[in-house]
Amino acid sequence: MYLKIKKIETYILRVPLGEKRFFSSQCAFPERNSLLVRIETEEGIYGWGEGGQYGPPEPVKACIEHVLAPLLIGRDPLDKAVLWHEMYNHTRDFGQKGTYIEAISAIDIALWDICGKALHVSVSQLIGGCQRKAVEMYATGCYYRGEHYLDLDRTVKELGEEAAEYVRQGFHLLKIKVGLLPVEEDAKRVQAIRENVGPDVDIFVDCNHSYNANTAVRMGRYLEEYGILFMEEPVVPEDLEGYRFVRDKLDIAIAGGEAEYTLNGFRHLIENGCIDIAQPDICVTGGLTEFQRILAFAQAYGVQVIPHAWGSGIAFATALSALSAIPVNPHTANPVPLQNEPVIEYDRNFNPLRDELLTEPVSIADGKVVVPQGSGLGVDIDRTVLEKYMV
Ligand code: CA
Repeated sequence: MYLKIKKIETYILRVPLGEKRFFSSQCAFPERNSLLVRIETEEGIYGWGEGGQYGPPEPVKACIEHVLAPLLIGRDPLDKAVLWHEMYNHTRDFGQKGTYIEAISAIDIALWDICGKALHVSVSQLIGGCQRKAVEMYATGCYYRGEHYLDLDRTVKELGEEAAEYVRQGFHLLKIKVGLLPVEEDAKRVQAIRENVGPDVDIFVDCNHSYNANTAVRMGRYLEEYGILFMEEPVVPEDLEGYRFVRDKLDIAIAGGEAEYTLNGFRHLIENGCIDIAQPDICVTGGLTEFQRILAFAQAYGVQVIPHAWGSGIAFATALSALSAIPVNPHTANPVPLQNEPVIEYDRNFNPLRDELLTEPVSIADGKVVVPQGSGLGVDIDRTVLEKYMV
């Protein structure tokens, strides 16, 4: 079988959040952004990909249009790994991390979608087969809200209620934010959430790299006291020594990698003993092709892989497809979420790009997200919604 790439289109989507904006330790999120790519072949098969959800999507769009697309026109999408290496080799000297890798990620995902559709199999079948038809999800929420996040009494009360609401909605796993307030005040927020949801809910904490190593250890001791299962991005992604220091000092599992790029980036994080849980974002780190390499490398080191998921319905379907194919690691006849069974991040903030964009929304049953069963990524885009949010 041969296919031929005919056309590559990019779409920037943007939704202002207005009153629904939220804060991490790093910044306010006043809008949702996404960069989608649509690749079409001479045979009329098309695939969707996504990249560039962290920063402004315009540079990723420019990179696809001006640098990568000219390499791909006329080429066969079934050679997706060949094309991956060509794109990477072409941009290595100036693009080992950041925009260029995000652009390669978006294209690579669209090529996998095309391959699945051409062969009438799902992306998880292309990877090697479906290990699970539905993936356990965790709620990401309890951000800093509005302008009153410095009012600790009010924020503690509201957070407790927000966390309890997620449990009522059926979530058994919950990820919350710290890092914007002094350690002792953020510890009170964590304590309030723990007290509101009780001891049986698994809680993870995301610092968004707001600490130096020593402060991270101080926060980590509070997290251990409240039975938190992992501490995400305790220090800046460049500080491998800091990561290792924090991991050596604490018993709590250390997670990281959403701001890391390619197998080489993860090689340094993992070989240096920085993390227990790797969180590659497939739309950022090099697409599904590179994700397979990161997964194999991490599993050889006994590091769990829990992909970071942030973006539109295409990013979510991509993460779901990859997660459905991850083997239980280490194997057990009774896999436990996070311990050896992968889980998917389900951000609870307002996100119409995830919840409205697909022609058939991803369905949820018994606290799990059902993996779309169609060929390729198993999802398609509603053109009306696409045009509504297109810039
Ligand atoms: Ca994070």
